Amino acid sequence: NLSDKLDKAFHILKGHGKITEVNVADTLKEVRRALLDADVNFKIAKDFTARVKEKAIGQDVLTTLQPGQLLVKLVKDELTELMGGDVAGVNLSGNPTVILMSGLQGSGKTTFSGKLANFLKTKKNKKPLLVACDIYRPAAINQLHVVGDQIGVEVYSEPENKNPVEIAQNAIKHAKANGLNVVIVDTAGRLAVDQEMMDEIARVHKAIQPQETLFVVDSMTGQDAVNTAKAFNDILNFDGVILTKLDGDTRGGAALSIKSIVNKPIKFVGTGEKMEAIDVFYPERMAERILGMGDVVSLVERAQEQFDEEEARKLQKKIAKNEFGFDDFLTQIQQVKKMGNMKDLVGMIPGASKAMKDVEIEDDAFKHIEAIIHSMTPGERSKPAIIDVKRKARIAKGSGTKVEQVNQLMKQFDQMSKMMKMMQGPGGKNLMKMMGG
Ligand code: GDP
Ligand code: MG
Repeated sequence: NLSDKLDKAFHILKGHGKITEVNVADTLKEVRRALLDADVNFKIAKDFTARVKEKAIGQDVLTTLQPGQLLVKLVKDELTELMGGDVAGVNLSGNPTVILMSGLQGSGKTTFSGKLANFLKTKKNKKPLLVACDIYRPAAINQLHVVGDQIGVEVYSEPENKNPVEIAQNAIKHAKANGLNVVIVDTAGRLAVDQEMMDEIARVHKAIQPQETLFVVDSMTGQDAVNTAKAFNDILNFDGVILTKLDGDTRGGAALSIKSIVNKPIKFVGTGEKMEAIDVFYPERMAERILGMGDVVSLVERAQEQFDEEEARKLQKKIAKNEFGFDDFLTQIQQVKKMGNMKDLVGMIPGASKAMKDVEIEDDAFKHIEAIIHSMTPGERSKPAIIDVKRKARIAKGSGTKVEQVNQLMKQFDQMSKMMKMMQGPGGKNLMKMMGG
């Protein structure tokens, strides 16, 4: 997903102590590719990186103390801006306030109607009414009633009436007569943009003159989401976008592009099927979320690249025959070292970069381990079981370490051997494959 890709892009920077003009350009190229892969419109992605580059040059990124962080900040600020700048609220003027939902079938209109009603009721002290204008499927009306029951909000429906304009108008009258001050009109969608659907929602829109027309879009639909948003906006000139299903494995592209294509703010996000799974959209938080996630995928990818396949196959045989020894352990360590510097690797694990911020990780964290293994005889390396107290003392002395360090390594080795054996069992195959075997 986008986070992974962006992280990979920044990884280029993190790997280098110093940033040169060349790797600023390289990084921004990766950022652009990440945006494109996430279905961000080509021109937007190009403009985006051009703007960041310009700002980077303007702020003289190359001569600052922490150029990487400054560049990350520039990218974050730019992302924030691209997604809408300041927080946009819902217009609650009018009595009643009329809110119209639009969007394709399955985008989450009915679910979001319920979430919004619940939000306005519990957080804004409003008295909402939900209106069922999806007249094509009896199940749709039932669905809204179930939602309404769940949150204790009245639902207006006319199961026999096939005219959504009339239903919506009657609902507004009903709200006025009963002191309900927000009317949320849920409408019918189709699976794709379709003339009949567009005509119908345009008629409803014209008749009820909503204070807020919201376009609901499934954030997993990528580039299509942008096209759909454009089609609805051409007809309705809507006021805001609702990005649903942000809890899934979503591509960030929709959030990034929609705002710039239709120039309308994203107002809320849906983060689950429950009625409470609604969040006000904060562009800055979204940008942070996109940038702050670790990149497990690229960690695995790098491991894959670096682990010599031949080596892995040999290793597998040895483990199978119970012949895994300290020489193999040493090889493993060297493989891990090949993967890059430790700080780098830690930075790619989600959450770890924050937790480890203040912990010093030596790049030569393996130095002692290697010294200890080098002080072992070939016999000891292949049959660690023979290493007794006397031998341990000799090894510690020879490697310039303490006996406790030798003990610690023996323990680590033991754990690793056990793990390796486990990986041989059922379910372990994938793990071995992951390591290049
Ligand atoms: P509509 O056809 O536009 O009215 O869409 P629905 O409200 O019926 O939603 C379609 C499906 O998406 C349902 O199964 C919902 O439970 C699910 N859904 C809606 N919003 C979200 C969300 O934010 N997260 C997740 N995971 N599922 C959602
Ligand atoms: Mg629906």
